[in-house]
Amino acid sequence: MSQNLQDKVVVVTGGGSGIGREMCELFAGEGAHVIAADINQQGIEETVGMLEGEHPGLAVNLDVSNADSWSALRDQVKSAYGRIDVLCNNAGVFRIGAFDTAPIGDWYLQSRINIDGTILGCKAFISDLIEQGSGVIVNTASLSGLIAAPELSTYTASKFAVVGFSYALYQELADKGIKVYVLCPGAIDTPMNHDVDVPLEDRLIPPADVAQGVIDVIKADDGRMNIFTHPEFRDMLAGQYQSVLDEYDAFNNATEQVL
Ligand code: NAD
Repeated sequence: MSQNLQDKVVVVTGGGSGIGREMCELFAGEGAHVIAADINQQGIEETVGMLEGEHPGLAVNLDVSNADSWSALRDQVKSAYGRIDVLCNNAGVFRIGAFDTAPIGDWYLQSRINIDGTILGCKAFISDLIEQGSGVIVNTASLSGLIAAPELSTYTASKFAVVGFSYALYQELADKGIKVYVLCPGAIDTPMNHDVDVPLEDRLIPPADVAQGVIDVIKADDGRMNIFTHPEFRDMLAGQYQSVLDEYDAFNNATEQVL
């Protein structure tokens, strides 16, 4: 199976910057109608101005953490295009720091934008997608949604939530013709990382590569649900999940002996 993006209606949150902007450009290049949604009005206007596809894009101001804002976007998309084919819940924020000293506001912010933003986006369009019997959802998590690291505790918590939500939704919607993907990139060269005080330079990859990966996996439509970057993190990923399995086995073997 393969998925053609020509004339598809695609909503990208966080479309005013970074990975979201690149997604908008590449979807437009595939012939899609692109709706760039973001809280940053200037950013989405710039993005729409950059699109080179055959359809003009649409810039829509959206606060992903606000259900009314999603409702307004959904109504605007429905009345302008009559449908939605691809929803990319990509807007996000990133806070780093030791848990004991980081302000609790960092958690509330990441929770509202990264978790609520993703769930509210899916909620806004789920009835339309189910009614159509087709559609694609791409939720941007992070490798931090699969691998835990120090000083990233609250960001990690928010992205584990996005991964867990996406895995569950993938199963729930599989027989309704709706594909759910979760994007788990490593460090990307976007404004999100530009004022972060950690040495990332050698690991930053261009956001266009991430966006291309998203397009390729959607078009391949081969049953995958994870989209990754950074192959060098494989050992870390394997180590984390192997240690969970080892402890699981050790626990159950010990329990069997007791019983
Ligand atoms: P970015 O800062 O360039 O873009 C994030 C966008 O989200 C911005 O345009 C911002 O205005 C928007 N946004 C923030 N709050 C919003 C809100 N309430 N409503 C609507 N839009 C809002 O960063 P990016 O790197 O392009 O990040 C995109 C996604 O990728 C995020 O979910 C991020 O967590 C994830 N991610 C990024 C990296 C990385 O290294 N840059 C790595 C893994 C995952």
